[in-house]
Amino acid sequence: MDFPSSSHQFPTWRGRMEYVCLGCGARYPGDSLLYTCPQCKGVFLLESLDFDQLKTRNGAEWRALFDGRAGSRVTALRGIFRYYELLAPLLEEEDIVYLGEGLTPIVEASPVLRNAVGLPFAYKNDGQNPSASFKDRGMACAFSYLKWLCRRNAWDEVLTVCASTGDTSAAAALYAAYVGAPLKSVVLLPYGKVTPQQLSQPLGSGATVLELPGVFDDCMKVVELLAENYRVALLNSKNSWRILGQESYAYETAQWYGWDTGGLCLFVPIGNAGNITAIMSGFLKMLDLGIISQLPRIFGVQSEHADPVWRYYAAPEGQRQWQPVTVSPSVAQAAMIGNPVSFPRVRHLAERFTALGGEKAFQVIQVTEQQIMDAMILANRYGHIACTQGGECLAGLCNALEQGLISTEEHAVLDATAHSLKFAGFQDMYFNDGFPPEYGVTPEPGLANRPELLLPEEARQGKEVVEFARLGAEAVVERLKLQKK
Ligand SMILES: *Cc1c(COP(=O)(O)O)cnc(C)c1O
Ligand SMILES: [Zn+2]
Repeated sequence: MDFPSSSHQFPTWRGRMEYVCLGCGARYPGDSLLYTCPQCKGVFLLESLDFDQLKTRNGAEWRALFDGRAGSRVTALRGIFRYYELLAPLLEEEDIVYLGEGLTPIVEASPVLRNAVGLPFAYKNDGQNPSASFKDRGMACAFSYLKWLCRRNAWDEVLTVCASTGDTSAAAALYAAYVGAPLKSVVLLPYGKVTPQQLSQPLGSGATVLELPGVFDDCMKVVELLAENYRVALLNSKNSWRILGQESYAYETAQWYGWDTGGLCLFVPIGNAGNITAIMSGFLKMLDLGIISQLPRIFGVQSEHADPVWRYYAAPEGQRQWQPVTVSPSVAQAAMIGNPVSFPRVRHLAERFTALGGEKAFQVIQVTEQQIMDAMILANRYGHIACTQGGECLAGLCNALEQGLISTEEHAVLDATAHSLKFAGFQDMYFNDGFPPEYGVTPEPGLANRPELLLPEEARQGKEVVEFARLGAEAVVERLKLQKK
């Protein structure tokens, strides 16, 4: 077996990939696009058949390789494919699409926020990805794989489709627009259930944007029917190549903490459950290869308005029954999903995670809408850029602390899954006490922040700029009670 040793070159080692069905265990070769098992309709995870070959290199060698690649100037290794061998090692360098995704910063909580919460923690700002959410990680992998398929099969047109709570479509449209022919992007959105910012993204990227009444779960069913019966490429997280790309979040987090993940607690919002699947899978691979020696603990977080996974795990073992829920409006709108596609993946990986890391290694926490909003507003007031789902993670951390599920000796890493700007409308409702009653959010008046108009429109009219500047300055001095120097 030949491992290229330099961390500055694109690797030459290739592994064969297979889909493994979590329903019946059937396996299918990874060289065609499959979403669910043709035999039992189960969801897949992708496996490298040659994974054991990777064990001929020890953990320290892997760590050194990945650390070395941090300085590589090979474009294809600058994003999520820094961890090429652990992701999709059948791709060639020319297939890899890189738009600056991944390697997002981990920012320690500001001192005031840390004291308010009661233990040190950090945000990993996945909103600093190109389309401003973690979905880019999965899309970079899915689109690289699509390019690989197009090249091998000489396809001349591929229509990519996805249903979305907003961010999947933004990411899919962006990558499709960048790659161009033969790829074309179509996105299906639940009408009125994505934010204006999220809607503007696929429009700007030139995708065909189709809206349907209902919620995400309804759109998802439509897309599934399309993918089963027509020639389209599905880009929801049923597409296991997206899961692989999203594993990069785990690799980056481990690398940032010097591969010492023992005392870490990761908080991850659960919607369709693809992200938490990927993160668990990533840590398990690193443990298997000796890259890390201890698993972190993973806390999934769900709003009480969309909490099927929490409900499942809240029941005692032996009495757990999977039951989708009907969602109600949630400020964590990107996670407002009642029938998560990846639930079987979560159950499968959580079992391995707790077998290897102890029963406390995987838990799910429920939070209220009020807690989510309060937490997001608080975090951003102290210098963070959390979206509502990032607020959900902080709310989850506070509840975990209160319930004694986490100690002050541990270090929490919260996933700010998107940029706060995408969810500016919820901040607006908070500051202006404008939440429709179904959200059940009452803002704390002390936290409201509004712009103040200092002078009326007429104050500018008919004046030279010098005169207006004097007037404007006077108004500011008056408002701030400024002292002369
Ligand atoms: C998609 C999304 C989620 C939910 O992630 P899943 O993988 O569906 O569980 C959470 N936050 C944001 C911002 C998202 O876009
Ligand atoms: Zn099956």
